[in-house]
Amino acid sequence: MIRCLSLTAPKDARKLRDLQEYRKYIDAVEVRLDLCEFPERSFVQSVCSHAPEMVILSYRRPEDSSLLQKLPDAEASRIPEAKRLEVLTELLDTGVSHVDIEVGIDAPDLLRRAKQLNVKIIRSLHSFEGLPEQLLQLVREIASAGEIPKIAVYPRNSAEALQLLYVADALKDIKEKIVIGMGPYGFFGRVAPWLFGSMLTFTSVGEQLAAPGHIDPAQLEDVYHVSSNNDSTLLFGIIGNPVLHSRSPQLHNRWFREQGMNAVYLPFQVDDIDAFFELAEKVGIRGFSVTVPHKQEVISRLHSVSEEVRRIGSCNTVVRTERGWHGSNTDFEGFLRPLQERGEMRNMSTALVIGAGGAARTVVFALVQSGVKVYIVNRTAEKARLLAQEAGAQWVGLDAVSSIPESYKLVVQSTSVGMSPDTDADPLPQYRFRGDEMVYDIIYTPERSRFLQRAERAGCRTISGKGMLEAQAELQFELFRNSYNLLLG
Ligand code: NAP
Repeated sequence: MIRCLSLTAPKDARKLRDLQEYRKYIDAVEVRLDLCEFPERSFVQSVCSHAPEMVILSYRRPEDSSLLQKLPDAEASRIPEAKRLEVLTELLDTGVSHVDIEVGIDAPDLLRRAKQLNVKIIRSLHSFEGLPEQLLQLVREIASAGEIPKIAVYPRNSAEALQLLYVADALKDIKEKIVIGMGPYGFFGRVAPWLFGSMLTFTSVGEQLAAPGHIDPAQLEDVYHVSSNNDSTLLFGIIGNPVLHSRSPQLHNRWFREQGMNAVYLPFQVDDIDAFFELAEKVGIRGFSVTVPHKQEVISRLHSVSEEVRRIGSCNTVVRTERGWHGSNTDFEGFLRPLQERGEMRNMSTALVIGAGGAARTVVFALVQSGVKVYIVNRTAEKARLLAQEAGAQWVGLDAVSSIPESYKLVVQSTSVGMSPDTDADPLPQYRFRGDEMVYDIIYTPERSRFLQRAERAGCRTISGKGMLEAQAELQFELFRNSYNLLLG
């Protein structure tokens, strides 16, 4: 698997520093002349002398680059087409191994010069609006002309990401090709490029990422171990929308490595559960975590579920069994564990739970089942009332939250208010902490929410969502490991 660093830093000297800094993580470099201060021979030569063997030369037009489209002076910096091809042609003898030119560009001089110098041609197509028509035919034509096809497509939803997988599958016989899924729906293919049958994946660093969905080469390797994974690597992942902020890949991939398992855990942004299940069957996913907003909807697609899932109606873990997909809920035990470890569940009598969404359901059921009297408060009072009725809890209105006769021993914040990036928000500003209650905010980005900081200042004992995240993930990992062992054992 070729990991290619696209040099995108605004200053050429910084580009060279990036190359040196990330050299051990990469197998190829792309020099984007359109992003160079001056597309100079000496700069390209310097890159070639410090780079791995594979150096790709490209000169993007604004219509082929989302990065250029975002720059304020993109159109002003567009150079005449003949000049662009002339510069590319002139720099072919600097030591580069590949040159990238776009589909539909007629450049006989460039092709002739590339042939003389043994520089390979990458013929690229960029589509920011889903899959173009006649993609299969186009790729076959490029390959049969002896060029390397590169298709970079921006899937706008799960169905288009699935479609791209089918296209890649139909092109399996073409070994030398680059297939990129841009943006959040295609992200899994950037970190597991073999799924698209792609020989190469691009990465970039710094504030100017070359394309939507790029991560830096260190993350690509340290989190996703991209150089050591291949067709026999077992697949796990997480589905959600959005999902790229999730820290679960860091945890699970680290544990896979520590346990010597040939497995990888990938984030899948999903807006259509059925398209995801088709994808999961197609690529052979063994198990996955489920996050917002799919924890309820996923249940109807499963063959069997655990007792907690049946009771709570929320599922955060799915694994493949011999009979079909099985759903569990590790949030339940994961939520209780940090409280139990601190001895806080002993004599726990009364709790206030803020929120009535998916996570709150688990929190409320876990506390009620542990014998705690629970009051629920939520922006939408009707949802608090319904959850209270279902779980055997009480509910209170936002304005009555401080007027409960018993004082809460525990306050659990389980809404998404205060979660990154909206870190200044407080879900219950009218609530005045006494200072002797335990306050548990299940948000984990940021680690200390504004609500938790306010509780700390009032003298409360606090727990952040990190403990729950790790505990539920550890429990999930056990389920994934059993599924792995079942297949390989
Ligand atoms: P959800 O099902 O979408 O529920 C969102 C909750 O937040 C609802 O109660 C909603 O109230 C409330 N809310 C949203 N925006 C609000 C606003 N502007 N003002 C007041 N209330 C608002 O989401 P979820 O799955 O329950 O997740 C909630 C949070 O828990 C997320 O931040 C998630 O990251 C975190 N979480 C952490 C862990 C962990 O392991 N630490 C596990 C699961 C979830 P309405 O009913 O009025 O809409």
